[in-house]
Amino acid sequence: MDTTYDVAVVGGGIAGLTAAIYAAKAGQRTIVLEQQQRLGGRAVTNEKEGVYFNLGAHALFKGEAYETFKELGVRLEGSQPDVNAYGIWKKELCLMPMSLSSLVQSPLLSWKGKMEFGKWFAKLGTADTSKWNRISVRDWVEHELSDPMLRNLFYSLLRTASYAMAPELQTAGPVLKQLQRSLKGVFYVDRGWGSIVEQLRGIALSHGVECAVGWKASSVEQENGRVRSVTNAEGTRIPAANIIITAPPAAACKLIADSEQTALHRWAKQAVPVTAACLDVGLRSLPKPDHNFIYGLDQPVFLTDQSRSGKPRSAVMSEDGTHSVSLLKYQGPQPDAKRDELDLEAVLDLAQPGWRELTAARQYLPKMTVVHDFPHMNRTELPGPAVPEIQGLYVAGDWVSHGELLVDASAASAKRAVQHLVQGKQAVIA
Ligand SMILES: Cc1cc2nc3c(=O)[nH]c(=O)nc-3n(C[C@H](O)[C@H](O)[C@H](O)COP(=O)(O)OP(=O)(O)OC[C@H]3O[C@@H](n4cnc5c(N)ncnc54)[C@H](O)[C@@H]3O)c2cc1C
Repeated sequence: MDTTYDVAVVGGGIAGLTAAIYAAKAGQRTIVLEQQQRLGGRAVTNEKEGVYFNLGAHALFKGEAYETFKELGVRLEGSQPDVNAYGIWKKELCLMPMSLSSLVQSPLLSWKGKMEFGKWFAKLGTADTSKWNRISVRDWVEHELSDPMLRNLFYSLLRTASYAMAPELQTAGPVLKQLQRSLKGVFYVDRGWGSIVEQLRGIALSHGVECAVGWKASSVEQENGRVRSVTNAEGTRIPAANIIITAPPAAACKLIADSEQTALHRWAKQAVPVTAACLDVGLRSLPKPDHNFIYGLDQPVFLTDQSRSGKPRSAVMSEDGTHSVSLLKYQGPQPDAKRDELDLEAVLDLAQPGWRELTAARQYLPKMTVVHDFPHMNRTELPGPAVPEIQGLYVAGDWVSHGELLVDASAASAKRAVQHLVQGKQAVIA
């Protein structure tokens, strides 16, 4: 290819597709380069025996990505499940205090703990969480909450809202904001997040974006401090005036010669990835229909039936009503794939006894990177959107967060990159 593009986007996940659409809408000739044979990155959905499995449990919070998808014209069909839940405590399932009636009934808290919980939930609903942007989750919990069980509950809720299991490191403000959002209800998407990807792809194509799949970028070339082109392992070179990299931080560094001299290298060094073991099962029926949302309180696990009923109906996660149940184990630095699988099966034994006989389909992903970074106390600067040392080079993705979490960071950073790029161009023209 010898056409010069205004924008080449490396990576065709949510960040890459979002960036490409905004760039094309701003009149930029844009191409997306994706190494896999299909677009979507970690937001793809696999169909097995008629059951839709995301790559692990995926809930859309009503944050930046939700708003971006709506702004781009994505039709979000699905369901907002209710918040009723159980917690695993000492190998038993206990009703979680997620509403007024369950707060009264829950055996987990003393009356004093219940009063404190009720007070905090009311307060959190309207709190400006940015005032906790400079303290860790550990400091917030230990300073603000006095009841020991309440602290356990909050650690579990905050872990589930962010997937991160690092209370000393994690900044409290962003995850409390995410919890605030989750209390208003999350969204399970019909037929999984692959349906969002498919729509983004269609919108991108309709705006003239070109997409090359099976195209793995191996280097980004520069000339006089400006990007010139991106090249793959076969030596195919794509000239581009601007390049937005949405690959993981370490992979992004490898694309750039002398990346150690750039801010990109610092951002990559400070990035702390979050991983999880994910077990998804398609169950023809649920032996215990109520046990469809479970937090681990004394173990780092989580279960959700992504097809459980909600407003105004259940999310469609299979064509014949089979339930798509997702379990997740939050991992530390040295995960053990077999141990994690057994632990997740034990959660299913507890929640849905007899599940093995009811299993129609199964997917086990021993170590998924949920996010490549999150807002934490060791970050000395916000990454992106531009790599200041190299003109025309931008980054986006879930690690390029300015306080957003998970896919909200992917969408928000993609928008920031294009805004910066377009404004920069206008400044040059002026
Ligand atoms: C188990 C699990 C559960 C999750 N749950 C939630 C949830 O409940 N809520 C939520 O908001 N988020 C959730 N997430 C996170 C969400 O899926 C991701 O944040 C989001 O999909 C990331 O999109 P991205 O475009 O930033 O990155 P990716 O999806 O990773 O896209 C990057 C793309 O770049 C491509 N690429 C990399 N290197 C190159 C190269 N050299 N050349 C060409 N292409 C390249 C990759 O193949 C990939 O397609 C979850 C993730 C996981 C794994």
